[in-house]
Amino acid sequence: MTGIDDLPIRDELRGKSPYGAPQLDVPVRLNTNENPHPLPEALVARIAERVTEAARHLNRYPDRDAVELRTELARYLTRTAGYGVAAENVWAANGSNEVLQQLLQAFGGPGRTALGFEPSYSMHALIARGTGTGWLSGPREADFRIDVAAARAVIAERRPHVVFVCSPNNPTGTAVGADTVLALYEAAQAARPSLVVVDEAYGEFSHRPSLLPLLDGRPNLVVSRTMSKAFGAAGLRLGYLAAAPAVVDAVQLVRLPYHLSAVTQATALAALEHTGTLLGYVEQLKAERDRLVTELRAMGCEVTDSDANFVQFGRFDGPGGAHAVWQALLERGVLVRDNGVPGRLRVTAGTPAENDAFLDAVRAVLKESN
Ligand code: PMP
Repeated sequence: MTGIDDLPIRDELRGKSPYGAPQLDVPVRLNTNENPHPLPEALVARIAERVTEAARHLNRYPDRDAVELRTELARYLTRTAGYGVAAENVWAANGSNEVLQQLLQAFGGPGRTALGFEPSYSMHALIARGTGTGWLSGPREADFRIDVAAARAVIAERRPHVVFVCSPNNPTGTAVGADTVLALYEAAQAARPSLVVVDEAYGEFSHRPSLLPLLDGRPNLVVSRTMSKAFGAAGLRLGYLAAAPAVVDAVQLVRLPYHLSAVTQATALAALEHTGTLLGYVEQLKAERDRLVTELRAMGCEVTDSDANFVQFGRFDGPGGAHAVWQALLERGVLVRDNGVPGRLRVTAGTPAENDAFLDAVRAVLKESN
C-alpha cells in the first residue's frame, strides 16, 4: 500500500503525525480544555432561528468580510477587555488556529522564523511548520515563567519575524504580565520590525486583565481570541484577532475568499447575544479551577498557578513518569492530558461532579503509588 512517504510530499512533513489529543470514549473527559457546559437552551433556540434565516440565502456566498460579526466581536472586546476596538481592528476565522495560520502565512513563511517560549501551545510550532516558517524555541524559568533576560537575548540574536506569547499559557496555565509582553515587544522591534502575537485563547479565565490595551500605539502587536473556551463553543470553530487595521488588511491577502460560512457567522452572532449567561459559566469554572488547585496542593501535588480553565499538576517522577499516572487515571475512567512536560499532567476544569471524580481518582492513584 502507498504510504505518505511514498508520495511526493514536502520533505519537512515526512515521518510526521497529525496533531490531536486522543478522543476516547470515557466517563470523565478533561483533556482538551473544552467548556463542560452545553450551550443554554435559549441560545440553542436562537442559533436555530439565526441559522434558519441564513439558510434562506445559502445559494449566495456569505458576507466575505463578516462585517456584522466583526462589529459584534469588537463590541464584546470593548465591553470586557478594557480597550476600545472597532470592526476594522478585528478579524475572524474558523478557530483561532486558522487566525494564527493566516498570521504566519502573511508574516512568516519560507526564509522567515517564528519564536515561542516552550512548553507552550504546540500548534504554534506546527502551524509554523505547515506554513514553511522556521521555528525557534525560547526558554522558560523552572517555574515556567518567561525568563525575560534570556528571551531578550534570543530575540536579539535570532531576530525572529514573529514572536508568540501565550497568555494564559497552555499547558502551564499562568498568565504573562503586561511588563513582560512590553519587554518582548520592544526587544522584537529593536531586532527588526516583527509581529508579536499574544494568544489569549484562555483570556476570560484569567485573574489578570486582558493584554488588549497594549495594542494602543503598537502596530505590530496582535491579540488572538477564541469562542472555543469561554463561549463554550469549541464545535463552532470561531476564532478572532484584534490589532491595528493594517494587520487586518494583511491577513486578507492570504485568507481564502468566503472562508467563514454563513452558518458559522449566524451561529457566532447568536452566541454573542448570550454573553451574559456564558460569562456566568466562566465564573463558575474559575471557581472550580481554583478548587482543583487548592485540593491538588492539599494532596501534596506540585501545582502551577493557573489563570486558565485547566491546571498543570505533578510531579510524577516515579517509574513510568507522568505517563504512568495518565494511564492509571484513564483506567479509573478519567482522561487528562499528557503534554510531554516531564513529570506533569494537565487537567481541564469540568463540572463539579467531573472534578470530584478526577480528584478521587488522583487520590486513589497517589495512595497506590505510596
Ligand atoms: N490557542 C491556544 C493557546 C489553545 O490552547 C487553543 C486550543 N486548544 C487554540 C489557540 C485554538 O483554539 P481554536 O482553534 O479552537 O480557537
